Amino acid sequence: MSIRSTLKNGLAKTGVSARFGRSLAVGISLILAVVIGLYSPEGPVEQVLHNARDSVNAKPASGRIHIVEIDAKSLSALNKWPWPRGYHAQLIDELDKAGVEQIVFDVDFSSHSSRSQDEALAAAISRADGKVVLATFRQPQSTGEMNADLENLPVPMLREKAFLGSVNVRPDADGQVNSYPFGTITEATPRPSIGALLGDASGAVNKEFKIDQSIEISSIPRHSFIDVLEGRVDARELKGKKVIIGATAIEIGDRYATARFGVIPGVVVQALAAETLIAGTVLPELGPWPMLALTFAAVLLAIQWTDRRNTTGLVPSLLIALIILVVPLVAERYKIAHLDVTPALLLLAGSMVAQYVIGITKQISVERRIDRTTGLPNMAAWQERVDCSGDHNVIVAEIANFGEIVATLDRTESKKLVRAVADRLELSSGPGELYRIGRERFCWRTETLDSDAVESTIEASASLFNTAIPVSGRSVRATLCFGVATGDIKDSEGLANQATLAAKRANELGKRLVWHNDRLAQVTDQSLFILSEFEEALMTGQISVVYQPKYSLIDDCVNGAEALVRWEHPDKGMVSPSLFVPVLERENLMEALTLFVLRQVVGDVERWNSVRQPMGCAINISASLLANPAFAKRAVAILRSSGIDPSLLTIELTETAALSSQELAASSLNEFKQLGAHLSIDDYGTGQSTLTYLKSFSADEIKIDQSFVKLIATDNANKIMVRSSIEMAHALGMKVVAEGVEDITALNVLREYGCDTIQGWYIGKPVTRDEFMQRWCLDLFDTTGRNSSRDWVGQARTG
Ligand code: C2E
Ligand code: MG
Ligand code: MG
Repeated sequence: MSIRSTLKNGLAKTGVSARFGRSLAVGISLILAVVIGLYSPEGPVEQVLHNARDSVNAKPASGRIHIVEIDAKSLSALNKWPWPRGYHAQLIDELDKAGVEQIVFDVDFSSHSSRSQDEALAAAISRADGKVVLATFRQPQSTGEMNADLENLPVPMLREKAFLGSVNVRPDADGQVNSYPFGTITEATPRPSIGALLGDASGAVNKEFKIDQSIEISSIPRHSFIDVLEGRVDARELKGKKVIIGATAIEIGDRYATARFGVIPGVVVQALAAETLIAGTVLPELGPWPMLALTFAAVLLAIQWTDRRNTTGLVPSLLIALIILVVPLVAERYKIAHLDVTPALLLLAGSMVAQYVIGITKQISVERRIDRTTGLPNMAAWQERVDCSGDHNVIVAEIANFGEIVATLDRTESKKLVRAVADRLELSSGPGELYRIGRERFCWRTETLDSDAVESTIEASASLFNTAIPVSGRSVRATLCFGVATGDIKDSEGLANQATLAAKRANELGKRLVWHNDRLAQVTDQSLFILSEFEEALMTGQISVVYQPKYSLIDDCVNGAEALVRWEHPDKGMVSPSLFVPVLERENLMEALTLFVLRQVVGDVERWNSVRQPMGCAINISASLLANPAFAKRAVAILRSSGIDPSLLTIELTETAALSSQELAASSLNEFKQLGAHLSIDDYGTGQSTLTYLKSFSADEIKIDQSFVKLIATDNANKIMVRSSIEMAHALGMKVVAEGVEDITALNVLREYGCDTIQGWYIGKPVTRDEFMQRWCLDLFDTTGRNSSRDWVGQARTG
């Protein structure tokens, strides 16, 4: 079995809540089963199963009992009803002559017919010498009370030499006759039933037994009354047998519904009851409890078994169902007992449903915790890791160039790549330890706290990616960066988040590895605050734009500004853009802010130029934002719809986040340039890609970073850097702006080197748009009496 499938099985273990749910379902099913067992043990399901068992156990009748039918054929032959009793007398004589053992009449003789006929029958009964049994019928009185029942006896003359047997049966609640009494008691007189007499059995009166419907009624020999009467039945057939005479013709006689045979004549019911006694199938009625107990035990065993094997409970459930069906069948076939099974089935059904639901839940839960692409457990699985505790190192590996890679691959190829990365990382993480916790992120833990060991593991992992990954015939080079966090693995989620943060940081800094520490944690807190509050800040006016003047050393005047955002937080006070801009850039949230600044700028530039021309303005645009063509379209639309000359606008390309696609950025910039806007490379000298930008974006200007300008008077290296940058820019036909000019010395050095424009506190700090208008456009004198825009800088040069 592969490591990943072992892991899947580990994830599939039945959880505590699932076990509780299942116990609850089985418990409820058990209670329902007991209730059904108590109140309705023989419902329709039981009947159907009983019938089925009878069909399987079907057997022929003993042949000891014959029915003489008062059937349609006899009725038409004798052509009169009720028959003169002389016919019955004649029948008795015929049967006696044939040597039958007993002659039982399921016929009502409780009222007199003509005297001669009655006497003829009485004489035949007497001649049969104790072989004749006559039927008594119990009739409920009109009040319907059982105790007030009456018994219809044959007329005295007939019953003198005959035995009496009752023919009463009591249908069940559903109208079917399925049980039969040994005898009845009416008006304090006990009387055996005809069935008991025919079956030679004795039992307590009013005690009933189940009629054995596995005896095929078609196998009980039947003879038409008229055939016997006219000597057409072979006497040898009847010799030594017991005979019951009763009506089967539809128009006369009683009929009863039975479970297996449908509606049958009363005489057949009597014969069947007698056959039951002869077959010895009057079995103990054990009810539902033995099967319920057996099933409950089997269900408990099955649950344990399925949990241990981690399989579905289908096979054991089918086995239990088989037991429920077969045990009563065997018990009846071998004349042990009658068993009811409905409650046991109900319990089984309940536990099967519970098992099924748990199976599905388990599957969903496994799917939820498995990454489909790699088959590795995912973040949800990592969060639930509780199999150990104690200090561990958690390593997060991030594919640093994932964005660039997937931009060149289709979906299937991207998946192949991710799988290949997972395979390589699994070599370092060890079997079963690697999780995929994000699109381009994996993590695992190491028990060793030795940082050298962790670092060498990471070195080894990284070196696995020195060779390119083959994807659909292409070679793709994935670069990985790593973050490590240390702590109690119980907080697996927290550690993974910390390590992720460290890995992101490593990615931003272009490093291979960053360890998570407190400073990084602070940054996280800040990031969270910024991300959660910035959008609202933008809508509620907490964000504003200020303008810092740019002074042309060529024209000796302020001829432009740089727009800079400000966030005035109601509780935290001023939040620096150097704090929130990088966070927004990282999360790709710069668009709204930049468009907000641009809208302000075009309005303000228009106002300024209405009083003083030319007054340009620079806005900062994050390089990463330019990779989004939708942004460029919106920004160009704002610029077009404004009244300003686009050449008054300069885009300062800032670089704090890596640029994902230079081609896209170049085409966005082209749109601005075609309108006439200028392009400046901000913070020149600090970023890693500024030179690349210079080459690919054909900038109009470089803006030398303030870190070189501030110390220009004292630091020789800075001097060289600034001077050579200015020379290079001019050679390439670009202008140079120096930012961070804080004093006159810096200004003079820059003028000497031929710098075109300066910006810094010496000229002026960032101010609101109204102040900027007042101070730098209206050409007013400030309180010191200096002309704000021109003369005092010129004076500084000379003095
Ligand atoms: P930046 O574009 O290089 O802007 C210059 C920063 O230097 C500004 O800081 C400005 O206040 C500060 N500065 C100017 N002169 C001096 C000086 O003489 N001495 C000193 N010590 N500092 C000076 P600020 O306003 O805090 O902005 C910081 C950075 O935030 C900006 O650097 C820029 O990268 C970013 N930023 C500000 N507004 C925006 C914006 O609207 N969009 C984007 N993408 N970035 C912005
Ligand atoms: Mg700038
Ligand atoms: Mg700058």
